[in-house]
Amino acid sequence: MTTRPPRKSRSKKSDSKTLEEVYYGIPVSPGFVIGKAFKLDSDVSSEIPNYSISPKQVPLEIARFEAALTKTRKQIKEIQNKIAVAMGTEHAEIFNAHLLVIEDRVLIEEVIKNVQEKLVNVEIIFIEVSNKYAQIFDKIDDEYLRERSSDIKDVSRRIIQNLMGKESKDLSQLDSEVIVVSYDIAPSETATMHKEKVAGFATDIGSRTSHTAIMARTLEIPAVVGLHDVSKKIKSDATIIVDGNRGLVIVNPSKKTLERYGKEKTRLDVYEEELAQLRDLPAETQDGYRIKIAANIEMAEDVPSVISHGAEEIGLYRTEFFYMNRRDLPTEDEHYEAYFTVAKKMYPKPVVIRTLDIGGDKFISQLDVPQDMNPFLGWRAIRFCLAQPEIFKVQLRAILRASALGNLKMMYPMISGIGEIRHANRLLEEVKQDCIKHGISFDKSMEVGAMIEVPSAAITADLLAKEVDFFSIGTNDLIQYSMAVDRVNEKIAYLYKPTHPAVLRLIRSIVDAGHKHNIWVGVCGEMASEPALALLLMGLGVDELSCSSVAIPELKKVFRSMRYTDIENLLNIVMEMNDPDEIHYTAQKLVNEYVPTLMHF
Ligand code: PEP
Ligand code: MG
Repeated sequence: MTTRPPRKSRSKKSDSKTLEEVYYGIPVSPGFVIGKAFKLDSDVSSEIPNYSISPKQVPLEIARFEAALTKTRKQIKEIQNKIAVAMGTEHAEIFNAHLLVIEDRVLIEEVIKNVQEKLVNVEIIFIEVSNKYAQIFDKIDDEYLRERSSDIKDVSRRIIQNLMGKESKDLSQLDSEVIVVSYDIAPSETATMHKEKVAGFATDIGSRTSHTAIMARTLEIPAVVGLHDVSKKIKSDATIIVDGNRGLVIVNPSKKTLERYGKEKTRLDVYEEELAQLRDLPAETQDGYRIKIAANIEMAEDVPSVISHGAEEIGLYRTEFFYMNRRDLPTEDEHYEAYFTVAKKMYPKPVVIRTLDIGGDKFISQLDVPQDMNPFLGWRAIRFCLAQPEIFKVQLRAILRASALGNLKMMYPMISGIGEIRHANRLLEEVKQDCIKHGISFDKSMEVGAMIEVPSAAITADLLAKEVDFFSIGTNDLIQYSMAVDRVNEKIAYLYKPTHPAVLRLIRSIVDAGHKHNIWVGVCGEMASEPALALLLMGLGVDELSCSSVAIPELKKVFRSMRYTDIENLLNIVMEMNDPDEIHYTAQKLVNEYVPTLMHF
């Protein structure tokens, strides 16, 4: 998790007439890819033409408008069909509201009337009318109706693009392999994208722990984030290299650069082959110290990658994505199907399901969660679930039903104190009693844990340990909260230091508190995926590391090359240091001494 202050881009002459340009960002998903840029942000508002027309041209303008509406309707239907096939009809229904906008005769008639009266081109009239409608909905004091405003804006964008003959950009519509270049990629967009066609990501904002970064690692595609304004600088269809190992995006690469990457590809293929041999071997040091290595997943479809990378279990199953891109809430049966499928595919290996963790950088429109002023400090995760017991209990009941198989565990996110654990456990108990009453079987000894990611929970871990069966330290949040550094803000990413002595001390005290009360302690934040940091976590006594599947083979390679005594020595040295960078450097140096050939980090 290398953090560094932003660096300026540089450019030099490439062999063709174009200039090779290099942009520096934050490497968040390993590997590199060479391909065509696909710009997701297709904001055409600044390019909308504005011209007068003669009365004779009015029918032509109206015909253009009707054609754009027909084309837009066809595009939306196509997206709907694709999403229905990929994710189910309930996810596709979200677009019904978009179709209603296109069929809204009041809006259409008003546009036509204004074109006839004002004698200006239809793009300008249409944008005026649709903005007026969107604003009306924006002001309504009803969440559902306010949502119509974003439907109108979304559809209007498509209609304007079609009027202007611009290609409409949508991640579910890709027909050739591309590298997505964007300001950011929303969770709802990643959930609908055509995964085989997206070969890499390059985004303006973000950090190693932002949603886009986590998603890229889950998809196993190279990604660089925090590139500032790269999406404004790169043109669609430009040839680019996204180097997720070094954190570079190279635009119009020269012949020499392409040759260099060609050679690296050969080396990388050999390396991956070598790593694959470690798949079924444990993460055990030369002197016999073993640590469990688990994987993080976002969806049931991620399980094959967990298995192919040799994870011993799933240490974090994020369940938020299940709630995205739909108008209604997932039913208990839908939850159950997903959890049971994952549990069955992994059986008898354990799977830790995390209960709903919305908020922060993961918003779900139908849950009526307002965007707080400080989303990461707001109404998120367990706070939301405890306030909405009817929504929470549906998930709890589905988890319990799926637990009958015997290999499920569950944990609560964002616990800040004992009251929340007790409250959540009370609700769990009510659901258990209801299951017993209805003869529904479940695993009565299913472990229930707490994520430790809020400083107040970390500092009182000794009190919380008595209430749960395990701790899972969410370092992504724990670091941002303890250092007051927003985890998705690329401008301050250089301050986000997993090796800050405050963070290491907190982790040590959580581990000690857990062990004192005989519960196991894992880490499921991204800190677990970087070898140098994973060594520190191992030295701090963590029992399990759970990270992106792609990171697992390299972790095994490092641990299997070392002795535990070296890791203990490392800890003795770094816990006396005061400079986060020096601590990071010292841990990295030890990794390099044993495994100088790491290619991902
Ligand atoms: C964390 O905070 O470390 C964590 C694993 O949870 P998330 O990244 O989903 O907030
Ligand atoms: Mg978290």
